[in-house]
Amino acid sequence: MRLLTTRPEAGGDLRTRIRTASNLPSPTAVAARLIEVADDPDLSMTMVVEVLRTDPALSAKLLRLANSPLYARRRRIDTLQQAVTMLGLDAVMTAALSLTLLSDGETMGSTALVFRAHWTRSVHAAVAAQALAQRSGSVPPADAFLAALVQDIGVLVVARLEPDTYSGLDRGSNHADFITAEVAALGMDHAEVGAELLESWNLPEHVVEAVRQSHGFEVAQTDRLSSIVAISGLVADAIAGSAEAMHVACERAEQISIDQDAFTSMLDDVAAALPELAPLLHATVPPADRLAEMAAELIMGRLMSAHATTDRLREDLGRAEHILTAMEQQNRIDPLTHLLSRRGLDVALNEHFQQWVRFGWPMAVLFIDIDHFKVVNDTFGHQGGDEALMLVAERVVDVLREGDVVGRYGGDEIVAILPAVNSADAVAVADRLVEAFRDEPLRFRNGAEHRQSLSVGVAATEHLIPRAAVADLLTAADDALYEAKRQGRNRWCSAPAPIPPTPTT
Ligand code: GH3
Ligand code: MG
Repeated sequence: MRLLTTRPEAGGDLRTRIRTASNLPSPTAVAARLIEVADDPDLSMTMVVEVLRTDPALSAKLLRLANSPLYARRRRIDTLQQAVTMLGLDAVMTAALSLTLLSDGETMGSTALVFRAHWTRSVHAAVAAQALAQRSGSVPPADAFLAALVQDIGVLVVARLEPDTYSGLDRGSNHADFITAEVAALGMDHAEVGAELLESWNLPEHVVEAVRQSHGFEVAQTDRLSSIVAISGLVADAIAGSAEAMHVACERAEQISIDQDAFTSMLDDVAAALPELAPLLHATVPPADRLAEMAAELIMGRLMSAHATTDRLREDLGRAEHILTAMEQQNRIDPLTHLLSRRGLDVALNEHFQQWVRFGWPMAVLFIDIDHFKVVNDTFGHQGGDEALMLVAERVVDVLREGDVVGRYGGDEIVAILPAVNSADAVAVADRLVEAFRDEPLRFRNGAEHRQSLSVGVAATEHLIPRAAVADLLTAADDALYEAKRQGRNRWCSAPAPIPPTPTT
């Protein structure tokens, strides 16, 4: 905990007021209830859905979020149960809390501007924190998202309880100006104030502590979540235009073993996620190439450093190229299953398809979908579902051959490209695949077992009419998959032979 040096008596008084004042933001009934049930060891999907049903605005928002392209899906999610299963409880709680904060921020009159600027900072930071946590490996990304999103809530409290604190600030004031003004007036900054409020809301201890330490990296270094939240705030300041914040953020990330390559690819992820996510959370989207510029500045900054010798320059140039390749790769791998991502799959599909177009080399595609996967999520929880997806991905790769290409198409759908394979051989592979799952249950790390079947749609280039496009091959496989589902699942179906074009007379 931070020591108060300026005006401890004022700080003590403020703490009490934070806990007792009636004009402060408080979680909506539904958010409070979610925080409560999240602690329940018997938590079930039905409980969460029942809580959510009491808040139609939140329910609508969750459905929109679940159907946004952030979660690559082809089928619509139209029940709350599906949305919660897909998003997970943490994301649901975060959405509930952000609605609380938003509705509060919108009704606060003259301080609304102050709040809005900080809200955008929080949303940018939250996305950065999630991407940093994914790279650090030791912090659940959802925790990082939540802690970063609420890190500046103290500004709201100060604006309510001690509005004069900010009277000397204007639109041009940055985050550090706010902190200086707060410490001078109150003896504590909004990180401390926010933590007090969140503690009174009963948010998890580690989230509260991360908020408390969000301005002090040295203190925070002992705790990974706190470090990530502190760095995420700097990344948000960098997005708002501070080159210095970016360099400090990059250095600090290095201190927690997120190297420059990983940092740059993190910026790439943030750039990809914000255009979709920021409007959903009512935050501003940064200009399209702001993040790309930041990554370039980082690399250039090193290139231009005063000590750079020609050799070092060459080395750095090589590194810059390497970073670009890594950024490309990053987007082409699905982080959960380590299969190709949808984007990687598209590239590979096109490449192989071109071989057919140009040289007539055949290829086949298997469209694989896990049967009744929702039941896995319902039975083992979302994390169990994630583990099942990983296990399925591993087994699919094991069954296929070395040169086959496997990617996650989205949700529980996997696409395999079988180069140089005709339809009869592709059917034999699909049969082996279905058998491999029929024979052997999935085994989870905790010892639980689950017999999981698959449905597979098969299509090969020989099913195509001349001049067909790669999308036609995929559609043929998808239609065959649909047929396999229709016939009762746990089986494969193959695309029909093409209907010959009607002869013209
Ligand atoms: P069907 O046999 O008709 O395919 O039934 P299904 O239950 O598998 O239905 P569908 O394919 O439509 O639903 C897929 C489910 O997969 C919905 C979603 O909750 C879940 N899901 C999608 N992506 C993920 C993920 O990354 N992790 C987890 N745990 N679940 C996911
Ligand atoms: Mg399925």
